[in-house]
Amino acid sequence: MNASQSAPNNAYDLIIVGSGSGNSIPDSRFDDWSIAIVDQGTFGGTCLNVGCIPTKMFVYPADRAADARDSSRLGVDCGAVETHWEKIRDRVFGRVDAIAANGLHYRQDDCDNIDVYQQHAQFVAPRDDDTGLIRLRLADGTILAARRVVLAAGSRPAVPPAIAHSGATFHTNDTIMRLPRLPEHIVIVGSGAIAAEFAHVFGDLGSRVTVVARGDHFLRSHDETVSARFTEIATARWDVRFSTEVVGASDTDDGVDIELSDGSRITADVMLVATGRIPNGDRLDLAKVGLTLDDSGRVPVDRYQRTAAHNIYALGDVSSPYMLKHVANHESRVAARNLLDYWDSPTAVTDHRAVPDAVFTWPQVAAVGLTEAQAREAGLDIAVAVKAYGDVAYGWAMDDSEGLCKLIADRHTGTLVGAHIVGEQASTLIQTPTTAMSFDIPVADLARGQYWPHPALQEVIENALLELGLDNAG
Ligand SMILES: Cc1cc2nc3c(=O)[nH]c(=O)nc-3n(C[C@H](O)[C@H](O)[C@H](O)COP(=O)(O)OP(=O)(O)OC[C@H]3O[C@@H](n4cnc5c(N)ncnc54)[C@H](O)[C@@H]3O)c2cc1C
Repeated sequence: MNASQSAPNNAYDLIIVGSGSGNSIPDSRFDDWSIAIVDQGTFGGTCLNVGCIPTKMFVYPADRAADARDSSRLGVDCGAVETHWEKIRDRVFGRVDAIAANGLHYRQDDCDNIDVYQQHAQFVAPRDDDTGLIRLRLADGTILAARRVVLAAGSRPAVPPAIAHSGATFHTNDTIMRLPRLPEHIVIVGSGAIAAEFAHVFGDLGSRVTVVARGDHFLRSHDETVSARFTEIATARWDVRFSTEVVGASDTDDGVDIELSDGSRITADVMLVATGRIPNGDRLDLAKVGLTLDDSGRVPVDRYQRTAAHNIYALGDVSSPYMLKHVANHESRVAARNLLDYWDSPTAVTDHRAVPDAVFTWPQVAAVGLTEAQAREAGLDIAVAVKAYGDVAYGWAMDDSEGLCKLIADRHTGTLVGAHIVGEQASTLIQTPTTAMSFDIPVADLARGQYWPHPALQEVIENALLELGLDNAG
């Protein structure tokens, strides 16, 4: 439907800024609301277009290539592994681009109560006390107004100034997956989850990978045991330059020349910057509605996803410290429920107690809850158990010498407060501790109140639970 048809004077019941998790708000409960969805970028947001989904569609073939190379130690020789970047890339975007286009057409053509504006939006003035309307201005000057606004504006890549101002060509997750060909040599700046995933993708698809990291280990927000193990594995796989920064860069005839803080230079085909994300709240002119960002650049919200400004809600990366899609989805369900209530009497509450996260690198890393250091800092009396994959039968089948599972429990409550896994299937294994933490299942009940199929890899969790030595878990 055309914007001008549905809402006289562009006045809506609801404006949603951001078509990622924000787009999942208007379901059948909102059929009699007039709604504007505003997005300056590709419809569907980060996860679908340049985040979780395409990266994992590259990770999967990279996993298969790594498996094939690794399998000779098990007596299976797959021969020389050949990868075909163009075929992999076209499979990914053939699917993802179609889903994004269909999502946009559905909202534009099939939802009579919804208008889509493909432009940047920002606030214009404080909420009008007489009409209750909140106004946003689009890039072309159009003014939209609504009684309620949801900020689901996400985040963008952070680029260190030395790279941003160098004039050299660099990529971020927004562009790297559309390269015309597989680079022979890629320099990846960063050592967090996104850097680790892309290092695996490019490394196992056949590129030479150099990682430049300011810190001295990978995945620094993770538990120290897991981060140390992953760092050990990663440094054996890629050329890693720790405690180093990019201080300058320039384009060459066939790539990029990068100057590092230790005085060395690297030439490569492409440079990928994966040094974190900046929430997009700074581009909404929030001061106009009396909102300020917190010290981390996020829009502060309460546990009902309400901001400090009446009838303005926020969710996902723009406001959430987690910056994970499953968290953004949960927060959008909470916001949707509360939009249907009165501002002063919301009924849905956000639950951030047991948020798992997974890094789809090689091998995988996954975590939920507190790290050991955080648990000690919180003053908890903790029991800690670390079990190697090689301690259980499936680990023997895999001939695994890298994987491990670390569990942390509160001796006082007898429940888990954290779980940390590095190794194959970590993203799946983490669900059992997540379930236990979400439903307060005591360690003893989790270990012995159910069967664990033998000899599945889950036995590493069962064994770690038993090793915690809590109650009668034996
Ligand atoms: C490479 C990568 C891999 C990732 N992998 C995972 C993963 O495996 N698992 C996981 O859980 N999470 C992952 N994430 C994180 C996940 O993608 C995000 O947490 C999630 O997409 C955030 O959703 P959102 O709805 O908050 O924002 P987004 O999906 O980013 O949507 C925000 C939208 O708002 C639009 N916008 C912003 N400002 C304005 C404005 N002023 N006016 C108009 N439009 C505006 C943007 O164009 C954007 O489309 C990954 C992220 C990246 C970058």
